[in-house]
Amino acid sequence: MYDYLIVGAGLFGAVFAHEATAAGKRCLVIDKRDHIAGNIYTEEIEGIAVHRYGAHIFHTNNQEVWDYVNRFARFNRYTNSPVANYKGELYNMPFNMNTFNKMWGVITPAEAQAKIEAQRAEHYTEHPRNLEEQAINLVGMDIYEKLIKGYTEKQWGRPCTALPAFIIKRLPVRFTFDNNYFNALYQGIPEEGYTALVANLLQGIEVRLNTDYLADRAALDALARKVVYTGPIDAYFDYKLGTLQYRSVRFETEVLDMPNYQGNAVINYTDAETPYTRIIEHKHFVFGSTEPGTKTVISREYSAEWKPGDEPYYPVNDEENGALYARYKELADAQPQVLFGGRLGEYKYYDMDRVIEVALQRVREELA
Ligand code: FAD
Ligand code: UDP
Repeated sequence: MYDYLIVGAGLFGAVFAHEATAAGKRCLVIDKRDHIAGNIYTEEIEGIAVHRYGAHIFHTNNQEVWDYVNRFARFNRYTNSPVANYKGELYNMPFNMNTFNKMWGVITPAEAQAKIEAQRAEHYTEHPRNLEEQAINLVGMDIYEKLIKGYTEKQWGRPCTALPAFIIKRLPVRFTFDNNYFNALYQGIPEEGYTALVANLLQGIEVRLNTDYLADRAALDALARKVVYTGPIDAYFDYKLGTLQYRSVRFETEVLDMPNYQGNAVINYTDAETPYTRIIEHKHFVFGSTEPGTKTVISREYSAEWKPGDEPYYPVNDEENGALYARYKELADAQPQVLFGGRLGEYKYYDMDRVIEVALQRVREELA
């Protein structure tokens, strides 16, 4: 008999299992995949740590979370600085003086601000109700059209006018020459890959892979006093109120016989016509990895509408799905013997640091 059956060996499940075990609880972690680490899984191909489910850069402002992850992995000092390719024109991301200089030839912050102000004045919306209005308010029409519209509509499969404004507020706008994509105090990539980080969290804890909770629910429930469920909340309830929408992503990964394909870890293709959203070159997440004569691994990332059976990646946080989630949440709250957590269990667009923060909070409440 276990105290906790933890469904999902991703970051949420692993942090929860680690803390509960440290407090003397018996945990069994299961995952339907054939590996641990959930979506942050990295695997070695040609000696390069490949992020199988998309590029993951750890970044946080939370000192406790940063100290916590550093107990389980050593982080390098990688700083994410994606480049946007719009029909062959290259722009630095996020929106900063390098971007503004390339876009308009402006030299000083005052000139850049004046340019954006002029564009804003033309199209300003007092209370932006959607991503398009919010983006134009933030950076003006030129940047919206070249760097935001095509990318966002490919990523989400919906027009920018039908997407919530908050998605674009994630991106910094800076009047300095700083290409750091994140405003976080701390940033990096685990030197040994994320799988090793999760393996360290799960050290000494029983893990059963290739085990689908929903396929054998009664027998698995009987093993533990309580369940921590980090899969999709609607699947837990057999979709009885309807299906929550997700965006899915398909990765086309290729090993290339060259040392350096694109010179950067992340290049976003921001036009509407290129079918993929970005190309990741995994070796550039690590320093000093462009020696001549070696191979490289790239992944083209295609965004796709999700249907049951596909991997769910991004919750679609619009009103309709938010309302449906709220109804599932009521069902979940009526089941105190199951704790729903993580990106899928809570249907939230969580970064890794938030997942850790919330998992630590929940396990503390649970053990109090
Ligand atoms: P998951 O990692 O999805 O783990 C859930 C686990 O539950 C999975 O392993 C799944 O197989 C298992 N499971 C589901 N159902 C069942 C079942 N029925 N039975 C058994 N097991 C089940 N965050 C950042 O901080 N920085 C980034 O750069 C970043 N980039 C991202 C890029 C992409 C493309 C995506 C999609 C996300 C990105 N994130 C990033 C977010 C990050 O992936 C998540 O915050 C984190 O992985 C969530 O962890 P989790 O444990 O909640 O979920
Ligand atoms: N975005 C954009 N152009 C880019 C990169 C991002 O318009 O070149 C927008 C897009 O709407 C995206 C949002 O910014 O959904 C957040 O981007 P981020 O890279 O944070 O998304 P992630 O893939 O990490 O979830």
